[in-house]
Amino acid sequence: MALSPEEIQRRLERLLPTVQKPGRYTGGELNQVVKNWDETPLRVLLAFPDIYDLGMSNLGLAILYDGLNRQPDMLAERAYSPWPDMEAAMRAAGLPLYSLETKHPAADFDILGISLPYESLYTNALNLLDLAGIPLLSRDRGESQPLILAGGHAAFNPEPMADFVDAFAIGEGEELILDVARCVRDWKESGHARPHLLRSLAKIWGVYVPSLYRVGYRKDGTVAEIEALAPEAALPVTKRIVPELPPPPTRFIVPYIDVTHNRVPMEITRGCTRGCRFCQAGMITRPVRERPVGEVIDALEEALACTGYEEVAFLSLSSSDYSHILELVREVSRRFAGRHLNLSLPSLRIDSFSVELMDLLQGEARRGGFTLAPEAATERMRQLINKPVSTEQVLSTAREIYAHGWHTLKLYFMIGHPSERLEDVQAIADLSKAVLAVGQKVIGKRAKVHAGVSTFVPKPHTPFQWVPCDTTDQIEAKQSLLKRQLRGPGFKLSWTDPKETMLEAWLSRGDRRLGAVILEAWQRGAKFDAWQEHFRFDVWQEAFTAASLEPSFYTHRERPIDEMLPWDHIQAGVRKAFLSEDYLWSLEGRTRLDCRERCYACGILPRFASLRRAHPGEVWQCPEVRSPARQASESMSLTVRG
Ligand code: SF4
Repeated sequence: MALSPEEIQRRLERLLPTVQKPGRYTGGELNQVVKNWDETPLRVLLAFPDIYDLGMSNLGLAILYDGLNRQPDMLAERAYSPWPDMEAAMRAAGLPLYSLETKHPAADFDILGISLPYESLYTNALNLLDLAGIPLLSRDRGESQPLILAGGHAAFNPEPMADFVDAFAIGEGEELILDVARCVRDWKESGHARPHLLRSLAKIWGVYVPSLYRVGYRKDGTVAEIEALAPEAALPVTKRIVPELPPPPTRFIVPYIDVTHNRVPMEITRGCTRGCRFCQAGMITRPVRERPVGEVIDALEEALACTGYEEVAFLSLSSSDYSHILELVREVSRRFAGRHLNLSLPSLRIDSFSVELMDLLQGEARRGGFTLAPEAATERMRQLINKPVSTEQVLSTAREIYAHGWHTLKLYFMIGHPSERLEDVQAIADLSKAVLAVGQKVIGKRAKVHAGVSTFVPKPHTPFQWVPCDTTDQIEAKQSLLKRQLRGPGFKLSWTDPKETMLEAWLSRGDRRLGAVILEAWQRGAKFDAWQEHFRFDVWQEAFTAASLEPSFYTHRERPIDEMLPWDHIQAGVRKAFLSEDYLWSLEGRTRLDCRERCYACGILPRFASLRRAHPGEVWQCPEVRSPARQASESMSLTVRG
């Protein structure tokens, strides 16, 4: 029998003194929303499959929490993965996954919404379901169990998690979550069986119900066909977008304990027009929509008053590309003068970053490190990835940064780009040394360079979705070179474990058969895969063997352009033909400018023409649409049976 909230609270109080950081598990923070459980017909538990400390900084969940709780007939509460000490204590005490706000068991909610921003959370998502006492496989769930909804960037290839998730939210969630919640509420009132709910959900724009599709494979393991099994199941499933960014949340929950980011996260733009070929976020979040300066400032004023935070992060994929960035930072300086507000602008681009902005930031920003992301160090590689900044630009920007008082410059690079050679990796070391030399010339020995070198993983819906990923041997050879070269005073080097890169690479371009691997890995003890101390590569290898699948099939194989990809039935708005053309351009060293200067017809406009027509002007950074446009249709060899 399910435990009552009172009983959960009683058991919790007994075990909290025995675990690390009990503040993760109590709830009761400033600005949490507690609604009347019995009088609210639709209840959603929003879960982040990693610890509270990380999940509390997730803006997407904060937006959904705010949006749902604004509805009179809905409530949203929160849950996070317990750290292993707490999980062991919970299992020993018979305590299920519960909500922080009212301590109701997760299984008592109507919807369990799981955030999947990246692939290494998949086993933790299974662990949450298990802790909640909810069957892991979608097909085993009955009428009384919550709907398992998942969304986030990783959901743009939902197939590896298709067996476990009842419905995926593809794209932006602000409006979609309300449509799903209303659909579940109506279904509850109707008394229909669960399959009826799934078919109703499939009719909602942006919802993908995997059990309503069948995937066929060829003998060589590639996908042969994706078939819709019900008339309600769209082919393709087009991502959801909001035509304009809705007002941002301001009543952020303030944790009792130190979390990853203790600050107001304020989104200033969504989408990116730069077209870096490795960047999935840049492709799947188009079109670019900006928030007016006045709205940002007013919301910031309210958020600071509601939370007491002393730092704001203006979030965007490329903050310095926000059309009104100077105006915004000037206005922040004016409105919040003397209030010691720290301003953080993550994701500044080298080529759109001005000395005036640096001057303004100097007054407002914390004197921590300053981050630039050249991503590659030779002109050839930068052209290939479509980030065509020159080495001179990097050095002159570095000179200005040191001259404006920063001591540490963080440089983000990626190794493993397609066709990369060791000389391209050597160039990363050379450029880092050149930047340090520039810094030393300006501020002497106080100058520091922190080179953060991650490894490229080809992602779905990008121009590089067809390319092979480096093997662990290749990655290790490149990392050894950098470790040899970037040592000594002034340097700090960090890198990604090649085995963790392999996991990300397997899962991000995997097909539906990987569900068996994920389940097997979890059963063999895999969880917290994003944490180096918990990640167990051997378990994943065993899981592949048990499922009779070859991991390198998913990673080290060049995929032909005409191969049907496991995510071809998910439409992110950018046409597959545009992606393949861009891939061919990369091989020829051809670059594309910022598409605000020239539209490259990526597919966004025909796909969302009516929305654009209804929202003319500067709301979007894409050209306006005046005449009725034809709806773009991908030529996909998919079959529909209804
Ligand atoms: S439609 Fe044109 S302007 Fe809009 S995102 Fe695509 S290429 Fe850029």
